[in-house]
Amino acid sequence: MKRLTAVVPCFNEEEVLPMFYEEIMNVAECLKNEVEFEVLFVNDGSTDGTLQEIRKLRERDKRVKLVSFSRNFGKEAAMYAGLEHSTGDFVAILDADLQHPPKMLIEMYHGIVLEGYDSVAAKRVTRDGEPKIRSFFSKKFYNILCKLSKIEIVEGSVDYRLMTRQMVKAVLSMSERNRFTKGIFGWVGFHTKWIAYENVERAAGQTKWSFWKLFKYSLEGIIGFSTAPLAISSILGLAFCGFSVLAIIYIVIKTIIWGDPTSGWPSLACIILMVGGIQLFCMGILGQYMGKTYIEVKNRPIYLASLVETEEEQDDRMSE
Ligand code: UDP
Ligand code: MG
Repeated sequence: MKRLTAVVPCFNEEEVLPMFYEEIMNVAECLKNEVEFEVLFVNDGSTDGTLQEIRKLRERDKRVKLVSFSRNFGKEAAMYAGLEHSTGDFVAILDADLQHPPKMLIEMYHGIVLEGYDSVAAKRVTRDGEPKIRSFFSKKFYNILCKLSKIEIVEGSVDYRLMTRQMVKAVLSMSERNRFTKGIFGWVGFHTKWIAYENVERAAGQTKWSFWKLFKYSLEGIIGFSTAPLAISSILGLAFCGFSVLAIIYIVIKTIIWGDPTSGWPSLACIILMVGGIQLFCMGILGQYMGKTYIEVKNRPIYLASLVETEEEQDDRMSE
């Protein structure tokens, strides 16, 4: 029988894990005649009882697998580790907080095996329960990113999808350190079906995304998938060069004809400030790209696992 791995990144999710386990195992029950289930929890350096909670589930149920990080590496790294350690012919990624309804997996699975898609992904059609300001910036960001990067990022798409082993391999082949999985999914392509769903509020616990984290995430997206800001900064530079040539011609002619009454320092100060600002801004853009390149060049691992408990290892321990 074919196998399906559900990859679940967890960071301080002890409160929701039992509920999540119930729900996902109900789905496993529904699909039990079609596919074998495995749930791979990736503990992303949680500081609460998440690890203990997962191990408790694992003692009860050997379909539960575990990869535990040595510290918090972020959700992107957790998703990568999950894909790397997954063994299923189909792999799903979903959040632990039940905001990605596990029930949808049934429809997703049928999308792949019955309709022949390579991947079935979820998109939110409402954002109820999310702060308005976050929805606003999020929408703007995806609009801009789509325009700049020319990769398709469907509006409202979330990191909830089921894919075939072939697509998992493609995603894993993109081993960049600055990861932006939504962009990576778009970049690798494959025939994807989109299923709409209504936003669900977190079952318990709190969101791990502060405004600052989201801001950094959006920079990751833009810098990782587009060099447009570099082009924009050179266009800005060019425009200002053109403007300054015109201004110089005007000033020289004006001085020759009417003399120089040495007024005009306010305008001079304004111009210096503005040009200085734009220069710094463009240098900052350059710096961002250089920083990301620096991180990539160092080639550090995307994550470090302190504990990997997949089936094989459990068998080893039992046979010892
Ligand atoms: N998560 C993670 N590492 C982090 C932050 C979050 O593995 O550093 C996991 C978290 O446990 C959850 C999922 O990523 O399963 C989504 O996080 P969250 O619900 O906080 O984000 P939101 O739904 O608010 O976007
Ligand atoms: Mg959530």
